[in-house]
Amino acid sequence: MDVETCLKKLGYVGILNFATVDEDGAPQVRNISAIHYEGTDIYFLTARGKSFARQLYRDGRVQISGYTRFKETIRLSGQAFEVPQDEQIKWRDILYKEQPYLENVYPGESKNIDTMFVIKDYTIEYFCLSTRPITREYFAVGNAVLKPKGYIIADKCIGCGKCTRVCPQGAVNKGNPKPFVIRQNNCLQCGNCFENCPVQAIQRL
Ligand code: SF4
Ligand code: SF4
Repeated sequence: MDVETCLKKLGYVGILNFATVDEDGAPQVRNISAIHYEGTDIYFLTARGKSFARQLYRDGRVQISGYTRFKETIRLSGQAFEVPQDEQIKWRDILYKEQPYLENVYPGESKNIDTMFVIKDYTIEYFCLSTRPITREYFAVGNAVLKPKGYIIADKCIGCGKCTRVCPQGAVNKGNPKPFVIRQNNCLQCGNCFENCPVQAIQRL
């Protein structure tokens, strides 16, 4: 998997869950299909008067997710910025051309209430449930930084092997120098090994 393929898959899914954070810190999610992919940049629009726009102006953090028919979740987390004024019309026209239904929503001059946003720095989590074991991959785009997630086995592991027996995906290998290691790309992050380790050697990142 790679960033380009993830974006292509999101494009095929078409209608994506698009989450922001409101002024109370509560999640707000809506479905969005008016998205233009330009390289790794993601352009989208909303009307300036909508709460969606206010959340983007105030906070800007967004999370977009899509689920493919191959049971792949692609989750993109990043920061959205309003497109500079001198580029607004250019990107809006491109989006309206790709998504002609928008003309029905904002006909004629009413489309001037629209404003374009772009996401350039983001991370992607790719998670596929149709492989055995499952597949998980992470990518960072632009200036985004990946935050480690999941579980690791610390040095105090006594090598009892219980984690290998309870792991639903067989994602724990014998290691060297550590007795056991978790294959992060195949880990569900379910926490079963964490709950069952007799010496609490498994740490949540
Ligand atoms: S269950 Fe804990 S102590 Fe046993 S092998 Fe796994 S990490 Fe090590
Ligand atoms: S978190 Fe779940 S999937 Fe990952 S290694 Fe532990 S038991 Fe296996």
